[in-house]
Amino acid sequence: MKAYSRRSVLWGAAVSVLFVLSEVSFAQQTPLRSITYRLSMSRPVSHLFEVSMEVELPDDLKNQSLEFQMPKWSPGRYAVFDFAKNVQEFSAAAGICPPRGRCDMAMRPVTRVDDQTWSVAPLGSPSLTITYKVFGNDLSGTFSQLDSRHANYNGGCIFMYVVGHKPDPVKLTIDPPNGWRIVNGRMERPGQQEWQFPNWDIMIDTPTEIAPDWTQDDFQVDSKKYHVVVHSLGDEGGKRANLVRDIEKIVRAETAMWGPPEFDEYTFLIHFAADDHSGDGMEHLTSTQIIEPGVLAEQGVSDRTLDTVAHEFFHVWNVKRLRPFELGPWDFTRPANTRGLWIAEGFTNYYGHLMLRRAGLWDNARFLRREASTISGIENSRGNRLMSAEVSSLSAPFLDDAPHAQQTNLENTSISYYPKGELIGMVLDLLIRGRTKGKASLDDVMRQMYEEFYLKSENNSYYLRGRGYRIEDFQEVASRVAGFSLDDFFRLYARGVDALPYDEAFGYVGLRLTRTLSRDPFTGIALDFDSPTKLVIGNIRNNSPAEDSGLQRGDEIISVAERAVTRDNWLSTLERYKPGDKIPIKVKRDRRIIQSNLVLGRPNRFEYRIEDKKDATAEQKALFVAWMTGT
Ligand SMILES: [Zn+2]
Ligand SMILES: [Zn+2]
Repeated sequence: MKAYSRRSVLWGAAVSVLFVLSEVSFAQQTPLRSITYRLSMSRPVSHLFEVSMEVELPDDLKNQSLEFQMPKWSPGRYAVFDFAKNVQEFSAAAGICPPRGRCDMAMRPVTRVDDQTWSVAPLGSPSLTITYKVFGNDLSGTFSQLDSRHANYNGGCIFMYVVGHKPDPVKLTIDPPNGWRIVNGRMERPGQQEWQFPNWDIMIDTPTEIAPDWTQDDFQVDSKKYHVVVHSLGDEGGKRANLVRDIEKIVRAETAMWGPPEFDEYTFLIHFAADDHSGDGMEHLTSTQIIEPGVLAEQGVSDRTLDTVAHEFFHVWNVKRLRPFELGPWDFTRPANTRGLWIAEGFTNYYGHLMLRRAGLWDNARFLRREASTISGIENSRGNRLMSAEVSSLSAPFLDDAPHAQQTNLENTSISYYPKGELIGMVLDLLIRGRTKGKASLDDVMRQMYEEFYLKSENNSYYLRGRGYRIEDFQEVASRVAGFSLDDFFRLYARGVDALPYDEAFGYVGLRLTRTLSRDPFTGIALDFDSPTKLVIGNIRNNSPAEDSGLQRGDEIISVAERAVTRDNWLSTLERYKPGDKIPIKVKRDRRIIQSNLVLGRPNRFEYRIEDKKDATAEQKALFVAWMTGT
């Protein structure tokens, strides 16, 4: 409780010192009398969401300026996107006009305070109506889309909050186009158009789909209702029934680990976008948004959807409720800084894959192949020795799909907390299972954390039950559950960049990690996958043959030893040479053709495999089965 009181008065920090002082003095004690949002979309083809906010003011605020603020980012995606850039036509009027009423309301002065904040002077009026429009044409868990087919929004990029009044209860009314139906994770009845939320944070945690043609399948597990809402923008090939059946298997596997969730209903909002570029998965308290770029009929799309389902549903516990201290409530004037994303996201990645195995959708071999490929990715990456899991978490605003106008060297210096955290989670799980001879596991640690910090902790903010944890808390609880100190583990592998103790971990369950050196000579060139037709250099490794030869990112490779190369024959062309060979390479840079010589380096990439140990004991085999099945 104490920890958040300081943060809550700092929400207005970006605005002005004067404002912060006034916040301290009254905003906490005096909530607004009401805040009502109305969302309409009268011209879907314009991609413009129309928002109005009706606020009723207590007497002592009638002559104070009120500030309306668009978040800089949205929970679950840590890059700063500055949603205010898509706001237009902000205006303020005195009074509130009843729906479909005709009122002559006097306008009130609006001052743009900074990039995300609008200030309105009520000039004695007891209520205000704010209106603005938001452009949205991205189908994504972070952004919003309005077009002739549907409206799909993430509240964080649509709804402003009243500065200092995020904890206040809010109402929302949606006015859909004729024939369009609304659905989200907080439906109390079909056809519902009005909602009440305990606070703004919960309102924006409720992504919503509005369209004429979405469909819904339902199932129940532990007397909780689950809805699978699908908006298919392409052919399903008759695969829907199997998809819903497999989602139910995942729900059963994950609730078997955690116990029944605390909600009564949960909604999977799934889009098959058929646009070959929109793809996302975003967790929420009682729903998730999953967007697949393909169509369900296509090979592999169902598999990828289930992979995302297993990950996002695990977030019901890990991150949405059991959360690092910094993750809710949030300060939306600056990016979130947490050391814990390797647990929040990385462990969710690990369990997402493990749960596909426990649900029976993957077999043991597929799970182990997946983990081995994650090990290959991490262990071959240069950033793995430069950036720890904790620093990676703190760098999330730079890494989490962040756009960079300025070139960066992040590809050579960073590591993603998703795969790194996944491997830390797997190794930690196996060390606990092995050293306790199967008496404890990471499953037990996660359950204990959930109980202590979510279910049984006193609430320390208006936002949500319980309180967030610090990494030290996780380390202490994990050590307690395991029965041995994990201080060194956290120091070396989470805060440090040491190689994980794979041999000990896999040994406990009768497995071993093997690695083989690839035969490809080392060049240090990574291709740019955003350039599908041309052979463009996307990244150059530091201290590599490509760097020595003067090649640069953005160079288009034309030929190798006078032989034209394309994306298709690039690798096979290189295979004709051996380490130490000096090959002439011709690239196009700007308007010039540049000739250079590339001296191929010795192979340095390893392929990792997880294999059965031939001499595995019965005890190790039993631990392996317990790991795979969660029993
Ligand atoms: Zn839709
Ligand atoms: Zn996630």
